[in-house]
Amino acid sequence: MSSMMRPSALKAEQVMYGIGGSRIVAGVDLDVRYGEVLALVGPNGAGKSTLLGLLAGDIPPTSGMVVAGGRPLPKWSPRELARTRAVLLQANQVAFSFTARQVVEMGRAPWGGTDHAADERAIAAAIAVTDTAHLARRMFPTLSGGEKARVSLARVLAQNTAVVLLDEPTAALDLQHQEQVLRIARDLASRGRAVVVVLHDLSLAAAYADEIAMLHGGRLVARDAPRAVLTSERIEAVYGTPVNILDDPGTGAPVVLPRRGL
Ligand code: ADP
Ligand code: MG
Repeated sequence: MSSMMRPSALKAEQVMYGIGGSRIVAGVDLDVRYGEVLALVGPNGAGKSTLLGLLAGDIPPTSGMVVAGGRPLPKWSPRELARTRAVLLQANQVAFSFTARQVVEMGRAPWGGTDHAADERAIAAAIAVTDTAHLARRMFPTLSGGEKARVSLARVLAQNTAVVLLDEPTAALDLQHQEQVLRIARDLASRGRAVVVVLHDLSLAAAYADEIAMLHGGRLVARDAPRAVLTSERIEAVYGTPVNILDDPGTGAPVVLPRRGL
């Protein structure tokens, strides 16, 4: 299905978020579609986490709105929202005295605990797919950064929502687990979910995302297929560093390599 045909899960309409005199997110229009992985990229401070918070309904926009299913987010109850979208925050801040398993169980809270079998299935699947079974009985604060990130992702997956918003889920991960997380994102999309994932690695975004949205200074500067967004000119202008765009020999996807030497 061509991407324009896919149904919209979330729509940001002229969303602006300002603090004091500065516009952290400035008039962004963004359509998030079911069945797609949308990578959100941009330099540090571009407004990615703020935009994700706006899309999640966790941050109320200063002006503009985010609409889900034809209804602005403030008109959704907290429980409805929690059953619709799950959010992996950038910092995996969880209170101290929980085991990893208990953290994953928290993902089931919005579902009210009435269907124990469904809870167990969702938790077991989330733990399996994130490769965290061996961590289940560990205390969460004792986990490494990457282990915390994977357990937190398992919590998000256990929530079993149609919209999944992930803020730098790969930041602390080794190569194998980075790939695993992006394969999980792809798998969610193939099962019809809408996935937004904030990534710094542009090559990783190009390899796994259907489309890339690039933010710069709170503005959306591009949103299109990876090949169309990731031009050396645009990356140089936005990131202030020269790059070469190569082709992945296995897939043909663009690979972004900082230009070094000479
Ligand atoms: P990104 O995730 O792209 O790195 P953020 O959305 O976290 O960017 O932040 C965008 C900009 O807004 C940054 O310059 C950040 O310092 C600023 N910012 C974010 N939240 C606040 C806040 N609550 N108060 C003041 N400045 C903020
Ligand atoms: Mg951020």
